[in-house]
Amino acid sequence: MGLPAGPDRGLMRARLGPRGTAALWAGKLTAGLSRGLRRGGGTTLPGDVARWVDPKVLTKLSRSLTGGTVVITGTNGKTTTAALLRHILEVQGLPTVANQAGANLIFGVTAAVVNRTSWSGDVPARVGLFEIDEASLPRLVEDVAPGTIVVMNLFRDQLDRYGELETTAAHIRRALTRGPEGMTAVLNADDPMVAALGDDLPRVVYAGLDDPLLLRSGLSHGADAKFCPRCGTPFVFEGVYFGHVGHYRCPRGDFSRPSPDVRATSIVFDGMDGMRLRVTDGQQDADVAVPLSGLYNAYNVVLALAAAKALEVPLAKSAVALRDFTPAFGRMERTVIDDRPAILLLAKNPTGFNEVLRTAIQFGRARSFLIALNDRIADGQDVSWIWDVDFEQLRGVARHIVVSGDRALDLRVRLKYAELPDDQIEVVTDWRDALDRAAQATPAGETLFVLPTYTAMLELRAVLTRDGALQPYWQGRPGDAKP
Ligand SMILES: [Zn+2]
Repeated sequence: MGLPAGPDRGLMRARLGPRGTAALWAGKLTAGLSRGLRRGGGTTLPGDVARWVDPKVLTKLSRSLTGGTVVITGTNGKTTTAALLRHILEVQGLPTVANQAGANLIFGVTAAVVNRTSWSGDVPARVGLFEIDEASLPRLVEDVAPGTIVVMNLFRDQLDRYGELETTAAHIRRALTRGPEGMTAVLNADDPMVAALGDDLPRVVYAGLDDPLLLRSGLSHGADAKFCPRCGTPFVFEGVYFGHVGHYRCPRGDFSRPSPDVRATSIVFDGMDGMRLRVTDGQQDADVAVPLSGLYNAYNVVLALAAAKALEVPLAKSAVALRDFTPAFGRMERTVIDDRPAILLLAKNPTGFNEVLRTAIQFGRARSFLIALNDRIADGQDVSWIWDVDFEQLRGVARHIVVSGDRALDLRVRLKYAELPDDQIEVVTDWRDALDRAAQATPAGETLFVLPTYTAMLELRAVLTRDGALQPYWQGRPGDAKP
């Protein structure tokens, strides 16, 4: 199909034709210009331009990925799971091309591939690894014909972005049934709506958690998927790990949790520093250690391992590869702010926020917080979702909370209703001042926990990047998005 650019590495030059080449060049010029104007990483505009010139440019470029393409979708955990899988594959000698976190639409994926491709059409990667919003999934599947689709979980996201969960599940189902022949679906067995997507699919790998010590009784009050997708009867939950994700069955007997092919049988947390998982795939057992904490991250690990298995990487090799994994930006990323250690934990929807708070309190003994709420398009413009976040967890725990962001005042009202004392909450709108105040209010020997929504994280990271405390996000990995 193309000319091998480096026969030993199995790389191929994309066969683009005149129109595809014009699209590639237009996209690359846009990316260079956009970086020249310092408009962030130029994460989506080059994709818009390239697709305008040739709507098939992504299809043409992705055909040169000899190891195939993996697509990751679902509400929470896409970025960390993609980062884990990317690390596993690259250690196996399989270079990847991946889209940036946040550039989740088809334009972001196109931009990522255009950026990595040389002017002459060489894609220096074997595997495409793309995270995508549920609504864009069918179109991406049509474009890149992925060999593997990973579905993480389904939770209500910011209210104005997506319709009902059933609509979201329908998008994914459509994509799964229209995937190419031989495609493998990697599904979270513990999320009922995701597990139900495996019906009638020829190739499914289920992943889940099987540590009875961590299973909690009862559903959280905001749980999203409580009803059997077959008959509508409320599920019986033996227990949950978080939200509605856990061990469930329909009392009428027509649907229950599938037995996971890849499962963690024991998970031990080392505070915020990391966790150790005992994982089995029925053939091999492996001990996996990663510098991530929280049960939501345990799911990211087992789903990444299951996806690697779908790509024929043995479990033991994946486990070895993860020994030197470092977290994706803003996902349990560590830094120092005014001499205080700080951890950045992106929180962008009720379930994500609840789990991040729970992890910070339970494993990080968090007492000092900076919480930043924006209402821009990427955050969700309707901020009423904060009323579904269980900020009551902070009662009797938080010592000082700086609230910031475009909607800091909404957040303050929410915290007031959570009965947190007024004198512990401080509104600071300027990003730099907010970081300074939050760090000053953090006692020596303690860690500041920074919980921003998506664009608030970009703003806070920009301040920290100017200080030299962090790398710009588009330089997060060598080889990404070179001008
Ligand atoms: Zn049922």
